[in-house]
Amino acid sequence: MALHGVPSLASSSLHPCPRNHPQRQSPRTSETNLLYTFNSLSQLKQLHSHIIKTNASYSLLSLPRVASVCAFSPAFPYYAQEIFDRADAPQINVWNSCLKAFAEGDTPIDAIALFRRLRQYDVRPDSFTCSFVLKACTRLSDLVHGRILHGIVVKLGFRSNLFLQNATVNMYASCGDMESAWLLFEKMPQRDVVTWNTMITQLVRRGDSGGAFGLFLRMPQRSVRSWTAMIAGFVQCGKPKDAVRLFFQMEEAGFGPNEVTVVAVLAACADLGELDLGRRIQDYSDQNGFGRNARVSNTLIDMYIKCGCLEAARRVFDGMQEWTIVSCSAMIQGLAMHGRAEEALHLFSRMTQLGIMPNGVTFIGLLHACSHMGMVNEGRRFFASMTNDYGITPQVEHYGCMVDLLSRAGLLQEAHDFIVNMPIKPNGVVWGALLGGCRVHKNIEMAEEAMQHLLVLDPGNDGYYVVLSNIFAEAKRWEDVARVRKLMKDRGLKKTPGWSSITIDEVVHEFVAGDETHPQAREISEGWEQLLEEMKPKGYVPNTSVVLLDMGEHEKEKALYRHSEKLALVFGLMKTPTGTPIRIMKNLRVCEDCHNAFKLISGIVNRDIVVRDRNRFHCFKDGCCSCRDYW
Ligand code: ZN
Ligand code: ZN
Repeated sequence: MALHGVPSLASSSLHPCPRNHPQRQSPRTSETNLLYTFNSLSQLKQLHSHIIKTNASYSLLSLPRVASVCAFSPAFPYYAQEIFDRADAPQINVWNSCLKAFAEGDTPIDAIALFRRLRQYDVRPDSFTCSFVLKACTRLSDLVHGRILHGIVVKLGFRSNLFLQNATVNMYASCGDMESAWLLFEKMPQRDVVTWNTMITQLVRRGDSGGAFGLFLRMPQRSVRSWTAMIAGFVQCGKPKDAVRLFFQMEEAGFGPNEVTVVAVLAACADLGELDLGRRIQDYSDQNGFGRNARVSNTLIDMYIKCGCLEAARRVFDGMQEWTIVSCSAMIQGLAMHGRAEEALHLFSRMTQLGIMPNGVTFIGLLHACSHMGMVNEGRRFFASMTNDYGITPQVEHYGCMVDLLSRAGLLQEAHDFIVNMPIKPNGVVWGALLGGCRVHKNIEMAEEAMQHLLVLDPGNDGYYVVLSNIFAEAKRWEDVARVRKLMKDRGLKKTPGWSSITIDEVVHEFVAGDETHPQAREISEGWEQLLEEMKPKGYVPNTSVVLLDMGEHEKEKALYRHSEKLALVFGLMKTPTGTPIRIMKNLRVCEDCHNAFKLISGIVNRDIVVRDRNRFHCFKDGCCSCRDYW
């Protein structure tokens, strides 16, 4: 009967209607509001005395809130205990809910501090207490307290609690103590799929895909999550081929991929240019309703872009229920790589009209677009707008894009000054962009200066030495070419051999420059000679200046004709039906001669030829390239 007042006021604060009930603006309202908002000991005491005075129920108090207010107060823990007892709540449960909130919230360190106080006052922890504190240690990478907690877990006799054991393994591994994680793992009397998955995920995180796979093979039972963790692990460790192979095994074992698996396999397809498999995965995810998952759509867009199918990427993008900044940035980057700068810029304005805020990645895409199409002024405008309009601080990648933009356009001095005045330290990519521009615009002096910086910043990157020796070779300065070669040799560097690959009927065929060991080397060579007969009347002259070695003109031509992408192209023309597009992947930048040859060939054989090189795509069609010779 004396319970009136507080409960009715409590409900009024849930359904505020002060206009109809002016009398509810009574002094007691402050206590009612406090019920939901108290966050200090004095406020709690005020409420407490109110409850005593009105003889209201203690169940009105939020006990986890009582616990968190008392957690670090001087009255700890007696005052809280008094309330818990009155509210008839087992105190460890209340402390646990408080620990959980700390462990999962912004201040996991409070969970550890509270736990220490509980120990001081002999509050006996249960298995939940331990799991929340372990979680806090894991999140904080706090190995010291993690170890103490492991000891407590053992002392309290929770050794057979699989959940706690798994959490402890995860804690050790997350804190970087793999040795203890292993030891515990090997000694565990029983393990479940979670234990194995935890170890696999942790090994992958350390880049140890071999160790992870060893465990995977040892697993007595595997779940979809285990397969997925391992497939994703291979992708993360830069082994997409292994990822795809394992995926086929997973299918054979009768496991249906989930959305996470699909994302991992699509990422592998993107790395490998595995278009056929990627398409099959898309069908599968459409059938299973994964198409609505934004991560799946984003990875599909990325996969299609990297396989050179811009239109397919666009279809996925346009079919999305809602665009995210990730999908927009991927699409802008894709359009940039394919030389479709106007569309990239158009998409950017549509995106901002829809209220999607660009991020740093978006601007990299935009700057690439401008750079690849020589749109210097637009590029400058975007670079300025990034900070002025969107408050994004340019990172070294953005500076690299700007140097690239200016250098390609031949504004070498401006690019140079831009680097010198950068507010952050330039890296190899920034000076490398200038070096690339020096090659196109034949500025030997500035190239040498860029190289001086590159020798310090990125001395192990063979690509820069090759560009510099190319510059000297084009100027016929063979002594300097020899000097660069010696420098490379002294530093133990070798030029990365060029290779290209083409996938025919799901089989990947790889070609290395100058390769004569291919079983069909003779047919390929004959095929090339035939093409050459048709190319020459159309104005093809072999551009031997791209050959670095100081050798006879005839030898140079021979070397030029065996560039890996030419071998792959001729093979592709032989093995695929007339009229179908040809897709080639190359590990290095396409050289001027191959670029010129491919343009002519696309017109002669009347086929679309898509080449994905290290930086971008070239779509050759009817004698032209999508890059408009600007790359
Ligand atoms: Zn070439
Ligand atoms: Zn091109």
